[in-house]
Amino acid sequence: MRKLKYGTTDIFFEVQRVKRKTLAIEVHPDSSVHIIAPEQSSDFEIEKKVLKRAHWIVKQQEYFEQFLPRTPKREYVSGETHCYLGKSYLLKVKIGEANQVKLKSGQLQVICKENSAPEKVKNLLANWYYNHAEKKFQSLAKDVFEKFKEYDFKEPKLEIRRMKKRWGSCNTVDKIIINPELIKASSKCIEYVLVHEMCHFVVKNHNKAFYTTLSSIMPNWQKWKMRLEQKLA
Ligand SMILES: [Zn+2]
Repeated sequence: MRKLKYGTTDIFFEVQRVKRKTLAIEVHPDSSVHIIAPEQSSDFEIEKKVLKRAHWIVKQQEYFEQFLPRTPKREYVSGETHCYLGKSYLLKVKIGEANQVKLKSGQLQVICKENSAPEKVKNLLANWYYNHAEKKFQSLAKDVFEKFKEYDFKEPKLEIRRMKKRWGSCNTVDKIIINPELIKASSKCIEYVLVHEMCHFVVKNHNKAFYTTLSSIMPNWQKWKMRLEQKLA
């Protein structure tokens, strides 16, 4: 991985040297930059080319970034809005007898023992989200698996893991990995991610057969995909 400064932005890129005459630059949907360079090209020549296309590279990255899971900066103080299952709740931080998080009268209440430092509130909340994610995802996955009855695969195991750039993924053997952040989205959005990942047990790649299967299980999947991409900010 190499790095180049473009104004205040760092552009990270990988170089691959192959038998070809011209240099190609690819920006992938995960914002990674790949340089496919002729075998003989020097590091200096490559950097010059990357710098020349830097504006285009940054624009491409910005385009892809709008589809990534976003979480705005949080300060973990009363008055902030935090989401849970597609609804937003006002955060209320207070001092109490014991550390506790609860949803009460439309508020997401974080009760802290002794002090309510943002870092502590953040951890308490993260734990609460994680525990609810685990329960909710397991029960939704059970329902979703029922819809795949006619297909021949075993009920996949769920693994809840934080991922920077995706909601879910599957290893196509027996497991689905799902982002706990998804608990902030509505049940339908979570269902969509589970359906999508389970479809990969039927069709591995995102080809026509994949989308046919997806649509047969969840006909309005596009609506939930869009919600997930746009609303969860
Ligand atoms: Zn997929």
